[in-house]
Amino acid sequence: MIFTPEQYVEAPIINIPYQSESGIMIEELNGKCKKCKKTVENLRGYITEHPNCTEIRFAGVCHPCKLINSFHLRHYNDGRITTNTDCGWFDIKPESNWYSRLMDRF
Ligand SMILES: [Zn+2]
Repeated sequence: MIFTPEQYVEAPIINIPYQSESGIMIEELNGKCKKCKKTVENLRGYITEHPNCTEIRFAGVCHPCKLINSFHLRHYNDGRITTNTDCGWFDIKPESNWYSRLMDRF
């Protein structure tokens, strides 16, 4: 994880959209500042590909707060997105609904 300004500067810039080897398209990566809830900018971090998911550890800066916020996400092949917080993993986006499953066929 990226916690310090030094770790943040060392991490590579994340380019979005990102297409994983298993075909997951990550079209946006948003993190909200823990303090003011504004969207953080200048995303840097690491993307790890697993057979069933793509894991992203990244950090972004909130300029008004002068704060580096770090995030840990997993984008699963079935469309779920989970995030790791102090309280454990939880779903951001539930399993894909009937509409997106239908659209996947085309
Ligand atoms: Zn902030």
